[in-house]
Amino acid sequence: MRECRLFINGEYCDAASGETYASINPANGDVLGTVAKGGPEDVARACEAAQAAFEGAWGAMNCAERAGIIAKAADLLLDRATEFAQLETLDVGKPISESTNIDVPVAAGYLQWYAEVTDATVGSTITVPSPGQIDYCLYEPYGVVGGIVPWNFPLFLAVLKIGAGLATGNCVVLKPASITPMTTCMLCELFAQAGLPAGALNVVAGPGDTVGEAIVTNPHVRMVSFTGSTAVGRRIMELAATNITDTSMELGGKSPNIIFADADFDQAVAGAVFGILLNNGQNCIAGSRLLVEKSIYDDVVSAVAEKMSSLRIGDPSRDDTQMGAIVSQEQHDKIMGYIETGKSEGARVACGGKVPDGPEFAKGFFVEPTLFADVTNDMRIAREEIFGPVLVAIPFEDEADAIRIATDTSYGLGSGVFSTNADRIQRMVRALKSGTVYVNCYNAVYPQSPFPGWNQSGTGVERGIAGLYTYVRIKNIIQDISGEPIGWF
Ligand code: NDP
Repeated sequence: MRECRLFINGEYCDAASGETYASINPANGDVLGTVAKGGPEDVARACEAAQAAFEGAWGAMNCAERAGIIAKAADLLLDRATEFAQLETLDVGKPISESTNIDVPVAAGYLQWYAEVTDATVGSTITVPSPGQIDYCLYEPYGVVGGIVPWNFPLFLAVLKIGAGLATGNCVVLKPASITPMTTCMLCELFAQAGLPAGALNVVAGPGDTVGEAIVTNPHVRMVSFTGSTAVGRRIMELAATNITDTSMELGGKSPNIIFADADFDQAVAGAVFGILLNNGQNCIAGSRLLVEKSIYDDVVSAVAEKMSSLRIGDPSRDDTQMGAIVSQEQHDKIMGYIETGKSEGARVACGGKVPDGPEFAKGFFVEPTLFADVTNDMRIAREEIFGPVLVAIPFEDEADAIRIATDTSYGLGSGVFSTNADRIQRMVRALKSGTVYVNCYNAVYPQSPFPGWNQSGTGVERGIAGLYTYVRIKNIIQDISGEPIGWF
């Protein structure tokens, strides 16, 4: 049994209310540990501590000192990589091979990169008409920033917000998703060991509609970085209007992954399967709509179905498991509901479509990787984010038809294009309306790459140098050097 406590002002503590709740292992439904259930009082204390750290020890550190602490935290994370990977798998249900090879090393890599860019935001000098005055800009941290993250990549997404926030000189108050707080809670220990001053990082677990909303409306919090669903993002933007707080939104998606007849067939099929099944399809940028040129549609559907059916589903802690458990009963039921919807809409199940058979699946939350064929873009399974291992395959006639279907969505997070025609690739890259376009690959992730969401997939930019500017605000300075009296009175 593990214990996940709040981390406020440099110390682990219980919630002010003393309340706790159980965290569940989705692979077997057992209780994994207890979590302190924070509330508005805890958020208020965390925000006070963050403000004090910004005005005190953390705010006084220069960029080199900040870099040293972030880099040290990255080293400590790598030292304990196995422990973090195991805990992430127990909490989220993702295969240990993914936690070990993706979640933990990618999180550490982002922290290392954030340590390298603590001096990377650059101001500018501006030419103004008056020769007696100079104008320049500074980028300054907000002070206290809030971070709210979902359950699909808990450690990685927490690191994104903590890394960017601290690199730019802010203090952070972070809320993990209620059902996956474990690794974020453990991460605080590493930052404390790395020498982070008390209050610079605070983590308050607890329900979104109390803890999350208290963070968004706290007057010390001047910017909120949110990753999660479009519906909650909309609610946070409304609440942010209370104190005119800035927001950055990384929201949902229904990303098209487009295969042309001139694509490298094996590469495209692998890209279709990896595009949807990473993290069991619980991936904001999952290539969840597979658009295939008509002449190769049947062949691609057969090959993708064969590959998906061959994957080993099971206990996520086993090294040879390729598909683990869905994160919760609620998410499992939502996915199964969409599978029923697809069937009733007339789509054909090319593979999967049910809970896997066998005694090892009796207790946890498992779903077979599922491919629907003969889907049209107006079906609910093609329009709504399922956030599970469910891929829908839609045929298209030609390039114009592919663009029409791909862009017929309210979202705009990602797109994929598989083709060997260089001119076509460039035409497609320009025509697609999403913050990221993958060409002949999918799900690549680098700290250097910006990650913007278009349309209802978000506002602003996270990650990359462009994403650092989300965590600072601009100050313009106009300075007189003429010595002349000012004004006309
Ligand atoms: P939710 O939007 O439900 O929750 C995300 C976070 O917001 C959780 O910490 C949640 O808390 C919190 N929250 C819930 N209600 C409120 C509120 N009223 N005010 C403030 N915070 C609140 O998303 P899920 O966790 O269910 O994650 C799945 C969704 O996230 C998918 O739609 C997916 O596309 C999107 N996502 C987007 C990503 C991106 O980069 N664009 C990346 C990952 C996911 P609690 O856990 O207590 O409910």
